[in-house]
Amino acid sequence: MSIRCPHCDGAIGPEWYGALLDAYDEQGHDSLPTLDITAPCCATDTSLDRLDYDWPCGFARFEIAAWNPQRSLLTPRN
Ligand SMILES: [Zn+2]
Repeated sequence: MSIRCPHCDGAIGPEWYGALLDAYDEQGHDSLPTLDITAPCCATDTSLDRLDYDWPCGFARFEIAAWNPQRSLLTPRN
């Protein structure tokens, strides 16, 4: 797993990414308030979705999850 800067091609460690997410979490955010960042390698203002990730990565405004996939089917209400 690696992250590279699109401006200087510098390596951005996963620990930097983790610390960024932890900082938002400690501020009480349950999601990222912005994707804007300053790259730690060259201090260029950019955004998280512009970094080069070597694994599939995406950013979304919401998430859909199946909480009880074993649950019996719903029945119509009368
Ligand atoms: Zn850079």
